[in-house]
Amino acid sequence: MDVNDYLMYTEEEREFREYVQKFCLDEIVPHEEKIQKENIYPREIIRKIGQAGLMSVHHPKDIGVGKYAGKGLVYETIVAEEVSAVVAGLDMARMSTATLYGKPISRFGTTEQIEKYLKPVIRGEKIGALGITEPNVGSDVAGMETHAESKDDGYLLNGRKKYITNGSQADYLCVFAITDSTVHAKQGMSAFIIENTMPGFKVVKDLDLMGMHGARVSELKFENIFVPKENILGKIGDGFAICMDELDSERVAIAAEALGYARPALEKAIEHSQIRVQFDKPIRYFEGVNFKIADMATELEAARLLTLNSARLYDKGLSITKEAAMAKIFATKMAVNVCDNAIQILGGKGYEKENKVERYYRDAKLMEIGGGTSEILRYLVQREIFKENKRKKD
Ligand SMILES: Cc1cc2nc3c(=O)[nH]c(=O)nc-3n(C[C@H](O)[C@H](O)[C@H](O)COP(=O)(O)OP(=O)(O)OC[C@H]3O[C@@H](n4cnc5c(N)ncnc54)[C@H](O)[C@@H]3O)c2cc1C
Repeated sequence: MDVNDYLMYTEEEREFREYVQKFCLDEIVPHEEKIQKENIYPREIIRKIGQAGLMSVHHPKDIGVGKYAGKGLVYETIVAEEVSAVVAGLDMARMSTATLYGKPISRFGTTEQIEKYLKPVIRGEKIGALGITEPNVGSDVAGMETHAESKDDGYLLNGRKKYITNGSQADYLCVFAITDSTVHAKQGMSAFIIENTMPGFKVVKDLDLMGMHGARVSELKFENIFVPKENILGKIGDGFAICMDELDSERVAIAAEALGYARPALEKAIEHSQIRVQFDKPIRYFEGVNFKIADMATELEAARLLTLNSARLYDKGLSITKEAAMAKIFATKMAVNVCDNAIQILGGKGYEKENKVERYYRDAKLMEIGGGTSEILRYLVQREIFKENKRKKD
């Protein structure tokens, strides 16, 4: 066994990883090619993922399924990495339903909301999505235009959302809207659970993406959707806090997905560099190639440590805004670099679809954008550093 692997993961975590790898081999690998070629939405595999307990690990034990339910964010990073290493778009769909949608409900939902809107999603029977981003509003979440007005015993929701993963497939969505425009969004934003069957819910279209085959990312429109008051998540005015609460754990899980694209890309580069002979020797003997491999492996290991560190801190109940941002910035850049270098090492083969590295590269690029761009995350890291510095001085 790799000595670092031994130190980084506990025995139970390694056992869980083997369980996830076997699931991937049995249930995902046989469909990989079809998903990539035909870009089908793997609804049935998501159901199996739920049944196998792979959407339960970072939800409380009584909400989840299987013996690993409630184990925490480290376990979620293991699922995210392993599923992403086979089909990145599938993990995007899984994570959107289990984490992006699921976390706000498991942390802020009432018992009734958890029963009705979360448990079937965690079991893979229903699909969830999270709606924050809009055509005119991305990084500046506080500028949100979607709004909800109090009406009778509920709220009337109007607006548009864009780039919503699972948007066209979701049975349930956790949607953010402004409920009081006279104050800052920190107090004036609220979160609602809506159903795709509610009158006024419209899918405008699925977006045509650079990568992430298998995922659906949609533009949605809400026209006078009546949301009953039982579907308010948390309290009116809690929306901004709920939204921010979800993002830290999402960012760690995205960092883990990035490990999942980089790892097979590195493996392919190592393999190819030993087989490909030019100038009478395998290309691994040229420093132009083997130094790249050294850098790729070093960056991957550093990204894994940052990811695991932030997940372990989160599992201990600590605030990880800075650590999660650092892990995502570093791991997603690492994945883009490693995949880029893998293409280079494979030469012409790297540019051919059948060798997969060009796909890992296209998939990896998204993660520097979604869940908070690397620029916004750098803003957060420096803000937290100066806050810590001030606390030390006071
Ligand atoms: C495939 C995909 C799936 C997604 N899934 C979801 C989802 O399920 N739910 C959801 O709500 N959203 C989702 N998103 C949206 C995603 O979170 C946003 O794309 C992201 O937050 C950036 O917003 P934007 O695209 O509007 O870019 P913008 O905010 O317009 O930013 C454009 C550029 O300007 C930079 N920039 C902006 N402000 C600053 C600043 N203050 N300082 C420095 N640079 C700045 C950005 O870093 C970026 O480089 C998804 C996006 C994609 C592409």
